[in-house]
Amino acid sequence: MDRNDAKSTVKEIEAAGEALPSHFIRNIIAEDLAAGKNQERVHTRFPPEPNGYLHIGHAKSICLNFGLAAEFDGKCNLRFDDTNPSKEDVEYVESIKEDVRWLGFDWAGREYYASDYFEQLYQFAIQLIEAGKAFVCDLNADEMREYRGTLTEPGKNSPYRGRSVDENLDLFQRMRAGEFADGSRTLRAKIDMASPNINLRDPVMYRVLRATHHRTGDKWCIYPTYDFAHGQSDSIEGITHSICTLEFEDHRPLYDWYLDQLGIHHPQQIEFARLNLTHTVLSKRKLLQLVQQKHVIGWDDPRMPTLAGIRRRGYTPEAIRIFCERIGVAKRNSTVDIAMLEHCLREDLNKRARRVMAVLRPIKVVLENYPEGRVEELEAVNNPEDASMGTRKVPFSRELYIERDDFREEPPKGFFRLSPGKEVRLRYAYIIKCIGVVKDPGTGAVTELRCTYDPETRSGSPQAQRKVKATIHWVSAEHALSAEARLYDHLFTKEDPDDVPEGVDWLANFNAKSLEVIKEARVEPFLVNAKKSELYQFERLGYFCVDPIDSAAGRLVFNRAVTLRDSWVRTEKSAKAGKRA
Ligand code: ATP
Ligand code: MG
Repeated sequence: MDRNDAKSTVKEIEAAGEALPSHFIRNIIAEDLAAGKNQERVHTRFPPEPNGYLHIGHAKSICLNFGLAAEFDGKCNLRFDDTNPSKEDVEYVESIKEDVRWLGFDWAGREYYASDYFEQLYQFAIQLIEAGKAFVCDLNADEMREYRGTLTEPGKNSPYRGRSVDENLDLFQRMRAGEFADGSRTLRAKIDMASPNINLRDPVMYRVLRATHHRTGDKWCIYPTYDFAHGQSDSIEGITHSICTLEFEDHRPLYDWYLDQLGIHHPQQIEFARLNLTHTVLSKRKLLQLVQQKHVIGWDDPRMPTLAGIRRRGYTPEAIRIFCERIGVAKRNSTVDIAMLEHCLREDLNKRARRVMAVLRPIKVVLENYPEGRVEELEAVNNPEDASMGTRKVPFSRELYIERDDFREEPPKGFFRLSPGKEVRLRYAYIIKCIGVVKDPGTGAVTELRCTYDPETRSGSPQAQRKVKATIHWVSAEHALSAEARLYDHLFTKEDPDDVPEGVDWLANFNAKSLEVIKEARVEPFLVNAKKSELYQFERLGYFCVDPIDSAAGRLVFNRAVTLRDSWVRTEKSAKAGKRA
């Protein structure tokens, strides 16, 4: 299977023996097909508004819409819902296309824009005016709010509701011609100001707005609302199942009303619960604020839940698709533990990432009994999960670096790594023993470890069996390359970023320690040719991605995508144990 061919994510997971829960949308489509509905066609769409970058929540919607279409031999359109020119931009259009493609989906040339339908939508509006179902209203925004009523009180009819068809046609044409000021007039549907559903209280269909549109330029000074554009765009494209998030449930009667009044093809709107993740925000407005106020370096900051951000961090499309499949599709909102997303990445990278050794916080080790100038090429396994990835040579010499954390001058109980007088195994190499330390005379800090190695214990040799309690990673000081490593933590300290005392802004929960930059890490020489975006496991430290932007030959930069510690498996285990108890 092609690495980016997402069609068979479901089959891929099932082939691995994992039983996937079916979900109500899949069931609805299967039933519709069985009943011969829509001439047995399945046609969905993913309808982003190009007013920001896509995030992992959108990935759920993308996987659902494109995934279902593929599963049922249908089609899925990419439709830009571009009816609000003041917030939209081509930069976003381009990023959205890149992200959808990267996730592994193909809209096969069906790239559409609500703005392509502006003329048709205008004609639909005329049709409703002629049928006495729409009127031009002169109330301003404040007055309209007053007339709308509340959840408990009905609204009042607009004084302009009784205008004749001819007057409405004339005024609406003049709205289009630019005769009226922004906000001075609207076109409204004539439904029911007493409806318990506020969306049906004569909703606005068109507003006067002088804003340059990223596609239609200054051609229009009236723009349709989302509600008037969305269903009709679905209809024009022959969509069969219009899948959206729960906040549109109350809009469905209006979606249906427009299509019924116009008497055009009527897709079925189906709502599902949006994805929420702990320790992060999935709202374009909030993500935009993080970018604009420079809390992060941009939409593609590796801490961001945007697809551009997690891609730069080292997430793979496969990990995201499997995550989206596993979280399922529900009708009730809930929040998914971000540890589950991390778990899916770890599982994917465990299969594909080449292992290498790197030392993030180096301390020098000198092997006193190892000959000066000698270099051995030791054999290291590239991926214990995949023998076909082979082995490589790692240089070993008298001076090495190990992780500062792997040494304790006074080891606490249960610390089995290196300490004075104690032994440890160096991965793929020898057992060494610490026989002394060198200290900075000023600070007393340990600056170097003096050790001996046991030449009989080279990995793979007959005498290598001698047991020591720990194995640590290392690099040869002379051969290692310098590198920058960027370590990330959650963007927000609290599980729910909105969990703040009254009057305090959600940004108070921003994790000031979400980025740690290590300038002087050391990595094994194999990485000299590491390419942008390549993924590696640094043994014992985590999975790292070569930063696609800042890394260059001679100036390597690695982003830690995820650590090796799997808190998700632990959480799941303890949940199971809890159930048993
Ligand atoms: P936001 O509320 O952050 O502005 P949005 O829903 O307005 O996002 P759109 O561009 O309109 O953003 O979204 C495109 C599609 O993606 C819509 O069908 C929307 O329902 C879906 N979507 C957006 N956020 C999520 C989410 N968190 N989980 C699942 N689907 C989502
Ligand atoms: Mg939206």
